[in-house]
Amino acid sequence: MKCSYCFRDAIYLQRYSGKHLCKKHFTSFFEKKVRKVIKKFRMIESGDVIAIALSGGKDSVTLSNLLLEQYGGRHDLEFFAITIDEGIANYREKTVEVASKVTKNLGIEHYIVSFIDNFGSSLDEIVKIGKKSPCSYCGVFRKYLLNRTARELGATKLATAHNLDDEAQTILMNFINADIDRLARIIPQREQEGLVMRIKPFREVYEKEVVIYGFVRGYSLIFDECPYSELPIRAPVRDFIYEFEKEHPGRKISVLRSFEKIWDCLKITNPQVKLNNCEICGEPTSQKICQACKLVLEMKEEISLKHCTSLTYSKV
Ligand code: SF4
Ligand SMILES: [Zn+2]
Ligand SMILES: [Zn+2]
Repeated sequence: MKCSYCFRDAIYLQRYSGKHLCKKHFTSFFEKKVRKVIKKFRMIESGDVIAIALSGGKDSVTLSNLLLEQYGGRHDLEFFAITIDEGIANYREKTVEVASKVTKNLGIEHYIVSFIDNFGSSLDEIVKIGKKSPCSYCGVFRKYLLNRTARELGATKLATAHNLDDEAQTILMNFINADIDRLARIIPQREQEGLVMRIKPFREVYEKEVVIYGFVRGYSLIFDECPYSELPIRAPVRDFIYEFEKEHPGRKISVLRSFEKIWDCLKITNPQVKLNNCEICGEPTSQKICQACKLVLEMKEEISLKHCTSLTYSKV
């Protein structure tokens, strides 16, 4: 099949637009789309110090490369990468290695922050005794370490590689769970003291498009899956949206657009609360004790978990 814009062979059928795209036109579509989203939400502004959450997986490797290629030449911006090592045997070692190679190639500083150094136990040890799903522990501790590291290192923004598929799943899951508070928290550009503003430059591109772009650009992508990834409760929601999108292309974008249409109402019904400092570790929380410290308190009788009272990281 030929490209809808030129004589070259198409490498991608964009089902929601009906367009066939060759390598050149796909690359240009993808870069334009990401730049447009960055501009629309003022994700990158002069003077920003941007911490990139780089797990070493395909999405974050593509994000790091794209951000540095598109914005790395600007003298009014700074970039560095943070990799969280949760301690997942036979999985995380490989992605940490990839992350180190990527940052070396890009010439940016790379900080590795581990669960063991900061909470006293690896995720593998935690899930052996924990009663919740592995992702519940992982999500809380990872978010905590990412935010704290980014803030302590002076970042003004924290870039994550969440794509359209992730966003559509999160929106629908929050609806299904009637968790409108959590839904309101993913509105972009929400500023809160102690929390580094998160930016998601891939929020309007499909996961498939991120992978194709990474391939086309020749980035070293690995496709290893976290051994715990079968377990999240979001799997049925992911499968449902996938099937729906297959029959009705463009529905993932519709989910995102519907959410955008109710933002203004959500900002009124679910305004941002003023955050406190956790009584144990001092990190921002809407309660008296932060989620991470609560998990530590729940489990520390059974496992050598500790509160993260001061941050430990290594710089590569
Ligand atoms: S799949 Fe779950 S356990 Fe694995 S890295 Fe992601 S959040 Fe953590
Ligand atoms: Zn073309
Ligand atoms: Zn705490």
